[in-house]
Amino acid sequence: MSIAENIAAIRARMDAAAAAAGRDPKDILLCAATKMNGADAVRQAIAGGVDCCGENRVQELVQKSAENAYEGAPVHFIGVLQTNKVKQVVGRVDLIQSVDRMNLLEAIQKEAAKQALTQDILLEVNIGGEESKSGFSPSEVLPLLEHISDFPNIRVRGLMAIPPISQNPGDNRKFFQKMLQLSVDITAKKYDNVTMDCLSMGMSDDYEDAIACGSTMIRVGTAIFGARDYAKLHHT
Ligand SMILES: *Cc1c(COP(=O)(O)O)cnc(C)c1O
Repeated sequence: MSIAENIAAIRARMDAAAAAAGRDPKDILLCAATKMNGADAVRQAIAGGVDCCGENRVQELVQKSAENAYEGAPVHFIGVLQTNKVKQVVGRVDLIQSVDRMNLLEAIQKEAAKQALTQDILLEVNIGGEESKSGFSPSEVLPLLEHISDFPNIRVRGLMAIPPISQNPGDNRKFFQKMLQLSVDITAKKYDNVTMDCLSMGMSDDYEDAIACGSTMIRVGTAIFGARDYAKLHHT
């Protein structure tokens, strides 16, 4: 199937999942996770109607930007971001979804102030409490937001999560539900510079469950582009 056909199939499943949950399909955005896919594939995904693109690696972001690959769609950063690369990302992307630690928040603030702009971000939550994974623990998020006015050049638009790799269909629902509850708790607090428009969760294997649990943005790679060729990465 072509990239456009894959996207059409995903849209149909998104619509069905939204309908089953009594939700408006328009409230759920499709972010193409474009890592390891070149400018041509990215252009096909945009032509196929994805709402935005998400890049994991700064090098790919810079290269595909230079190739005008993202024309017609917003681009987000969704990968692990080293503080020394922040200046290449701030102001270049519409949303940094993967703000997973305090010193990254500080580095983004500093760079956004320098560029005299406001950077939209999501806080990444380590909802499975996994040692191996980055992200704020759920209990850290509210105390952090109490002090978000210390970051005047940052606007928090919501939360992002990558739950543990699941063994069985439906396993991740409990994590998705916890994320929804956290976003509801935050909304109730009415913090300055914080909106909870975006709850970014759900990937190729579990996006229907995520939609059932309140996701407003799914990040899909494999189901759009096919399996990633990791072997290729080491030769280029
Ligand atoms: C790769 C990636 C995805 C998409 O994963 P698939 O399983 O290929 O859909 C989503 N989010 C992040 C942060 C990713 O790195």
